[in-house]
Amino acid sequence: MESNRSASNADHMKQMNRSVVLSLIRNEGPISKADIAEKTKLTFATISNIIQKLFQSNLISEQGHGESKGGRKPVLYGLNANAYYAVGVEVGVSQVSAVLTNLQATVVAEEKVPTDASLESTSIVGQMFAVIDTVIETAGVTKESILGIGISAPGPLDIESGVILQPPNLTGWRHVPLRDMVSERYRLPVHLEKDANAAALGEMWFGAAKGKENVIFILADEGIGGSVIYQGRFYRGFNNGGGDLGHGTIDIDGPLCNCGNYGCLEALSSGLAVVRRVKEEVRRGVSSQLSVLIEEDEKN
Ligand SMILES: [Zn+2]
Repeated sequence: MESNRSASNADHMKQMNRSVVLSLIRNEGPISKADIAEKTKLTFATISNIIQKLFQSNLISEQGHGESKGGRKPVLYGLNANAYYAVGVEVGVSQVSAVLTNLQATVVAEEKVPTDASLESTSIVGQMFAVIDTVIETAGVTKESILGIGISAPGPLDIESGVILQPPNLTGWRHVPLRDMVSERYRLPVHLEKDANAAALGEMWFGAAKGKENVIFILADEGIGGSVIYQGRFYRGFNNGGGDLGHGTIDIDGPLCNCGNYGCLEALSSGLAVVRRVKEEVRRGVSSQLSVLIEEDEKN
């Protein structure tokens, strides 16, 4: 038992070190072994070992030589950004979109289609398959080079089982096992994440929260959601509801929310709520330049 545990700890350690070295090469490469050693505090032997493994997986390659610090010019290692790819999908209230990116997160192909939040889940899943198929085809990459698919979708959802529960703004969805549906079709690892968490991760990796460990993110879109990142990890909270602030009651006499309660923040201030309010006011006879737009919208 004890030896099993220490073996798994050693595996975990190896994996961690490998991930640290790969991240460093990805973010700061091309980089020499000496610079990797300086920044990671790992031994030269460990680094050589990891580099050999990364080479064998085709994740990195030799990319020129650095400045000599007395002896031979050191070999520089860089990421093979186009060795592997990943697909990212966003299921939204008004559109379904997909991108295919390389390992450097450069978008190679993208596709989006308008959708209708009141459609049955099967129709929206069909649209999702179509946009995924399109980006894979457009990018022209082999199936083997795609590492996995990440899906961002409105909550509430169950991260463990990959099931979308009952999103207030997607009325045709009731306990849809989206992760398994997608992985069965594409035979790839699939990760499902709440939209606000996925967006927060994007900000942490590439945007306003880059390099930050503790982040509070507010998604104010058609719905209102939020995400809390504490020490670099999601604070998931009870029922994966950590950071959800859209359905807190702001006004108990307020309008009915899509979740069934009255006066939620989302029922008062979200994109959907603002549009609904403007339409109501115009119908009541308030004169606005928006009247023309609403008339045109309702004709379509
Ligand atoms: Zn609500």
